[in-house]
Amino acid sequence: MPSTTDPFDRPWFGDIPLPGLDSGPRAQSSPTRSRPYDPTLPPTDAAIAAFRSRIVKAPGHGCHIWAGAVSDGYGRISWRSAGVSRTEYAHRFALLIAGEMSEGAIGEHRCNEPLCVRVDPGHLIASTQSANLLYAVACGRTGIIRNLAERSDRHARSLAVRDAVAGGWDAAAYARASGTTAPLDTPPLF
Ligand SMILES: [Zn+2]
Repeated sequence: MPSTTDPFDRPWFGDIPLPGLDSGPRAQSSPTRSRPYDPTLPPTDAAIAAFRSRIVKAPGHGCHIWAGAVSDGYGRISWRSAGVSRTEYAHRFALLIAGEMSEGAIGEHRCNEPLCVRVDPGHLIASTQSANLLYAVACGRTGIIRNLAERSDRHARSLAVRDAVAGGWDAAAYARASGTTAPLDTPPLF
């Protein structure tokens, strides 16, 4: 199948601004976009199926890594229905289809893995911007993008993580790519 027919496998060239999230210099209007963008378009069955087909699950209590399109270090998913399209961060999509996304909520990664889409109190929860920042500070993260270098680092790391698990879960490859010294699938001790 030609990859050009699969929107999830294309490099991401046009950032679409998302509500409540940082807008980079490229996140302006996209005059070349042919389909109108509808931020309220609900996920379609096809989008949900495509989303699930692009998740690589670490065993046990580990992360569920998004292995699809990545932009600015985060997973992205686009779908369309009835002539309109919508793009969301993959982790927000996960919260959306789990029924956890409410007005003004943002996705918060408790596991500090930007590509994780596992809706779970230990991984990904719906939160508020202020709570997310507090948690980021507590974790030693800034929670916001301080500069382009940091954004670039996060993006490179996420691409490496995605590539590391593209052929299936590989704890050693993931640890190398993510910089994680302790593999996330280490069984808990009893
Ligand atoms: Zn996780």
